[in-house]
Amino acid sequence: MPEKLEMKFYSNKSPKKGYSWETEPNAITDDQIAETLEAEVVIIGGGISGLAAGARCAEKKLNSIIIDKNAKMAAMAGQFAAVNTKEMADKGIHVDKKQLAADWLKVSGSRIEEELLWIFINRSAEGFEWMLGLTDGKVYPRVYVGYKGPMFNEYLATHHIYLEEGCTDYQFRGGGMLACEILEKAFLKFGGQLYRGTAAIYLEKDAEGRVVSCVAKCPDEKYRRYIGTKAVVLATGDCSDDQEMLEAFCPIGTRPSRSIKRVGNTGDGQKMAYWAGAALDNPEWAPTLHVLAFSGVQFFFLHVNRLGKRFMNEDTWMQAKSVRCLMQPGGDFAYSVFDSKFLDEIGERWDILGGQGMVPHHMVGDEFDRDSLVEYIENMIIGKNLRPDIREEAEVNAFRADTLEELAAKIDVPVDNFKATVDRYNELVAQGDDTDFGKRAIMLTPIVKPPFYALKWGPSLLDIFGGALINGQLNVVGADSDPIAGLYAVGNAAGGMYAVDYPLLLNGNSYGRALAYAMQLGDTLTAK
Ligand SMILES: Cc1cc2nc3c(=O)[nH]c(=O)nc-3n(C[C@H](O)[C@H](O)[C@H](O)COP(=O)(O)OP(=O)(O)OC[C@H]3O[C@@H](n4cnc5c(N)ncnc54)[C@H](O)[C@@H]3O)c2cc1C
Repeated sequence: MPEKLEMKFYSNKSPKKGYSWETEPNAITDDQIAETLEAEVVIIGGGISGLAAGARCAEKKLNSIIIDKNAKMAAMAGQFAAVNTKEMADKGIHVDKKQLAADWLKVSGSRIEEELLWIFINRSAEGFEWMLGLTDGKVYPRVYVGYKGPMFNEYLATHHIYLEEGCTDYQFRGGGMLACEILEKAFLKFGGQLYRGTAAIYLEKDAEGRVVSCVAKCPDEKYRRYIGTKAVVLATGDCSDDQEMLEAFCPIGTRPSRSIKRVGNTGDGQKMAYWAGAALDNPEWAPTLHVLAFSGVQFFFLHVNRLGKRFMNEDTWMQAKSVRCLMQPGGDFAYSVFDSKFLDEIGERWDILGGQGMVPHHMVGDEFDRDSLVEYIENMIIGKNLRPDIREEAEVNAFRADTLEELAAKIDVPVDNFKATVDRYNELVAQGDDTDFGKRAIMLTPIVKPPFYALKWGPSLLDIFGGALINGQLNVVGADSDPIAGLYAVGNAAGGMYAVDYPLLLNGNSYGRALAYAMQLGDTLTAK
């Protein structure tokens, strides 16, 4: 029987490709280390995953330190996937976990560790309820309605969170920032120590090869050593701001000309793990390519590329739309085209619409709020900046015209192509059978009644999901398949649960994973 078998993953034992991140930085000499701090658990990264892991460890009486390179807390959006929560049960919603796992495997091309997926599936509700419990009932959830279609379905296990009216215990009213605030306050309340503006540079091992500490640069420009006697946990997020890592692990991530304005996710955890001997996920790491670059909505209406031609079955998810758009000539953007009946057409399909790319957000029990959508589109027509969090400049992303010719001129596509495309689309609608692209009949609506509209939409890179491989205890493993003693990873720094494409079939699964892994890490570190 072999004692050890090499795993076929990316690691520093593989041939070097010449990327700058393959070389570990020089060690800081001991005389340059201003101070050494020690705790049982040192967590590198204080985003949602690090804060959740920290709060859980501290609650379980583990003396814990979190360091984060940013001076301020940062979180994006705030959908939480949590499978079969109390809120879902109250609404009579139940997700078939086995079907969810099967669908996830399809999206990931089966290139994932199923054990990790099942930790998320089985523990996300527990983690979510635990987070809500930290607020003593001051924060409540609602369930988000997913998209339902033959090509693509979103599971109804996505939640938003809201602060009770009048509650002043928290600064943020909802979303990821509220979650991070809850977790950070809990971490500090349970005795954790948080150091922001403190960037880990590399990990250190003892003579037996156990990861025991990291060295970090602090806001006072001094270097400090942070010793974790039980665990050093990587929670440093993804690598989407590192061009070389994108090229190595997710080349399609280099293609969109727009990405979301973020806080510097340079794959530091993946690099530190790699230097320490960890195996990394094989390329292709899963990108989140959301349709957020221009208008945030497209709906199920006719989509045309920049040559004015139809190119896809529009009855699908925004990730698929992003990728199909990127494959078009001048693929930074495309247009969704409809006419003045759009509010009725959306309203008639309200119970099967929802999910990412839906404005207004559709929560279980909500009626279609026509006014919000009108306001949203009117604002895009006048060029108001609707997402100052992700876009610096205001820009016009919706167009209206009384004729198709005028609309084609406004969106700068060849008028003949555009008119021929709309004519052909209307023919397909009339025959009730999309023999060109296979869109289901219920989603076919004619473009005949002026004024006509075009929404400009395009792909934007949000995150890349891939990292250091971990086992079911969240212990990072090496290319020899052995755990690297002392080293753990959570959140986007951790690999194994995503591949090829981000599974939007359950929105908010990254935040859900952060909470599930916090539960798992707490158990792992207290079991020892
Ligand atoms: C616009 C947008 C909207 C999104 N909406 C959602 C959503 O609704 N639901 C969802 O589930 N996901 C969403 N995501 C994805 C989600 O934000 C990430 O997947 C998630 O934040 C990952 O959590 P994390 O803790 O692993 O990493 P991060 O949140 O990226 O946190 C990593 C932290 O590590 C710190 N760090 C990095 N390197 C170092 C270092 N060397 N030393 C010390 N600290 C370091 C960083 O400063 C950062 O604070 C969205 C992303 C974007 C861009």
